Amino acid sequence: MGRLLVVAPGPTANGDLHLGHLAGPFLSADVCARHARATGRDTLFGTGVHFTQNYIVTTARRLGEQPERLRLRAAEQVEATLAAAGIEPDGFVRFDERYAKTVRRFFERLHAEGHLRRRATSFPYLPATGEFLTDAYVRGGCPVCLGEGCAGLCENCGHWIASGELIGPTSTQHPELPVELREREVLVLPLEEHRAALTAYFERLAPTMRPRLAQLVEELMAAPLPDYPVTLPIDWGIPAPFAETPGQVLYSDTETIAWSLHAIALAAEARGEVPGDSERYWAAEAAPEVVYFFGSDASFAFALAGTAMLLALGGLALPAHFVTNEFYELDSDKFSTSRGHVVTGRQLAAEVPRDLIRYYLAATGPDFQRTNFTRAAMDRVCGQRLVEPWNRVAEKAERFVGAGDLPVGERSRQAGRLMVERFAAALGPRRFSLTAAAFTLTEQLGRLDRREVTARDAGDFWHELDLFLRCAAPLLVDLAAAGLVETAIPAEPQARSVRPRPLPRLTGGGR
Ligand SMILES: [Zn+2]
Repeated sequence: MGRLLVVAPGPTANGDLHLGHLAGPFLSADVCARHARATGRDTLFGTGVHFTQNYIVTTARRLGEQPERLRLRAAEQVEATLAAAGIEPDGFVRFDERYAKTVRRFFERLHAEGHLRRRATSFPYLPATGEFLTDAYVRGGCPVCLGEGCAGLCENCGHWIASGELIGPTSTQHPELPVELREREVLVLPLEEHRAALTAYFERLAPTMRPRLAQLVEELMAAPLPDYPVTLPIDWGIPAPFAETPGQVLYSDTETIAWSLHAIALAAEARGEVPGDSERYWAAEAAPEVVYFFGSDASFAFALAGTAMLLALGGLALPAHFVTNEFYELDSDKFSTSRGHVVTGRQLAAEVPRDLIRYYLAATGPDFQRTNFTRAAMDRVCGQRLVEPWNRVAEKAERFVGAGDLPVGERSRQAGRLMVERFAAALGPRRFSLTAAAFTLTEQLGRLDRREVTARDAGDFWHELDLFLRCAAPLLVDLAAAGLVETAIPAEPQARSVRPRPLPRLTGGGR
């Protein structure tokens, strides 16, 4: 198997990450990458921030600040929050000329190879200001689910909604001004032209797609696929390098694949590789396994449109898995800074050890459906299922410190192999699930906690305890860093002896 490429697409650079972001794609991607490395897999993990959506413009106007300033500040906040939560990407995308160049080159290639078409497309238009309204600039009803929102990716149903198809469009900046529809020629990627290849691709992916993604794909494929605009007649974004579309910009939501290529190239360079063509890590002949982690509402842009671009270009690996997640709520409400909640990982990490945060977000993460965060439940669950059992296990194990090398029996090696397998089932990319990993961790820790240990089987106990900590390390990063001598997770445990050592304790949590 080739290299594992882990991509967690960056959030819009208009604010910090809240716990919902962390509990979804970012913690998952980090844990997946850490586990893969511990099992000896060559892995690159790229994430960052996305700087070109016009949501940055609308948020900046609301805050009375320059969008260029807002996106830089947001990038710093996101990076600090990831660090506070122990999420350590190799590559982190920021907006610079190299990024813009990667994006332009990607679309120049799609254009030169004949995959883009000129199409007259209708957009909401403000005659009073002469502005076309796209994505964050316009609100209305979703023509698929009737939900109220902006154009682009619908947060409710996941479909991509062309600005010109919104029901009752109004300007988000000037809601009082009349809006009309006006046509403009833009370049599009006609997704329908890739139907056959997309159908075959999603049939291969069907066994591992999570239900919401599977449903979206089914709904999309049941109707004609849209002409996806690659250029837009607005002025925020990377200027489109095409003679046919003077003054237009590249549509930020189509940057998905170029952004991912860039993120992985940065990751490779951060791990010591010589800078070069950003596409080489994705070359199909190198057989990388590309795994994406994102919220379900980004599925259209990455899984459908992104894959269509890869199919059009050819020669690049197609994503092997999309690990999607749902919304995470705070006190049964949407995460909201305005309600004064502890909402960022940084705020919470200032009060709670980050291993507890990582464990609890994993245990309650929105893998398959909406889930809920409350601070009281976090304290109780961490106390009862993690901190207290671990500290009892550590105390029991330390009774044998100083006894020298203890023998490990075949039965213990066999138990270790099964434990390694259980963690791999949860943390391998194919069926990755943070909640499954947290469940396995809780079960295995509980088993060690209940076990009576005597001098005769102390070696077996220590052997399984040591393997447990290695398997739990992708979640409990600080405990593992303080408590492990060797971090590699062997598929077939071979240890014949083990030497007891002092172990760290966990603090925090409550009853
Ligand atoms: Zn909708």
